[in-house]
Amino acid sequence: MRYVWGWSAMIVGIPGGLLYYRYGKLWNSFLQALGAEVVESGETTRSILNSGVSKAENESCLPVKVFYGHVLALRDKVDAIFVPRLVSVRKGTHTCPKMLGLPDLARAAVEDRIPIIAPTINFQEGMWANYKAVYSLGRLFTHNPVRIIRAGVKAWREHRLYLERLTLGLDHRSALRGEAESLLCEGRELRIAVIGHHYNVYDTFTTMSLLDRLSSMGVDVVTADMVPEEMRRQELKRLPKEIYWSYEQEIAGAILACTRHRLVDGIIFMISFPCGPDSIVRVLCEQENKRLGGVPLLALVIDEHTGEGGFLTRIEAFVDMLWRKKGERVREREAVAV
Ligand code: SF4
Repeated sequence: MRYVWGWSAMIVGIPGGLLYYRYGKLWNSFLQALGAEVVESGETTRSILNSGVSKAENESCLPVKVFYGHVLALRDKVDAIFVPRLVSVRKGTHTCPKMLGLPDLARAAVEDRIPIIAPTINFQEGMWANYKAVYSLGRLFTHNPVRIIRAGVKAWREHRLYLERLTLGLDHRSALRGEAESLLCEGRELRIAVIGHHYNVYDTFTTMSLLDRLSSMGVDVVTADMVPEEMRRQELKRLPKEIYWSYEQEIAGAILACTRHRLVDGIIFMISFPCGPDSIVRVLCEQENKRLGGVPLLALVIDEHTGEGGFLTRIEAFVDMLWRKKGERVREREAVAV
């Protein structure tokens, strides 16, 4: 049913791709508290991927194609689609250009048939500009300022809780539900960091359930969220040049902290093809890792053509190599003790 002001709740769609893996809880909670009926496109599926790949620009990165597919999946089910324009989420940094253009991409996907709700969040312009953007968003649903503020406070609280659960070792789905069915890190002998953008780590379809597979191979997984923030920050301060992109800072900080402090036995850096920011961070991390005599690092570049067989073979070979290395270290220690 199409929305008629004042007669029914507006049905707002949230595409389950890209930054949904970071802010989905925040957006959903805020819109619901304002009285909207929220419909999410759900987890990525083969048909979502195929429709995104067939319609999006060919040179887009995999997550943008997937996002396109999520928008198409919502197109005929909702009154409007929520696609905020996140310009900067931390002072002095920017998001990648492809993320900046998401509302325009969504408009092209729905061919202007339904509105795209696209508040602009830009930390370069100061907090006040962001408050105003959020307030204007709230005004689309209610004229009661108290309701908007309450919705914002509630949503922010739930968002913080979601992020906190990720730091404790829950994966995205468990963190959303607030249920610790299984933790990624349970004190197993071999520990691997899986680092990358949230959508490159937590989307079970595009990552071919990498986190679950590692768990079933008896491996503990450490994500960037689980690496203490202070450690990540210290690593960034050591770099000769500041990293310009917000989320790449988190990725580089986590990889370098894992390397320097030997937090893990190996690192898998999940990259989507063709991601410019990730390829620069990859070179930087590989160089630093080498300089520090760090831990084995496997950069896995995925796109829509990545086959499950080849992907799994690389993971298994990497895990085998780490077990062998670990065994050698144990034998060396035992020999020294004798
Ligand atoms: S950061 Fe990389 S993977 Fe993410 S949207 Fe930008 S280009 Fe795509």
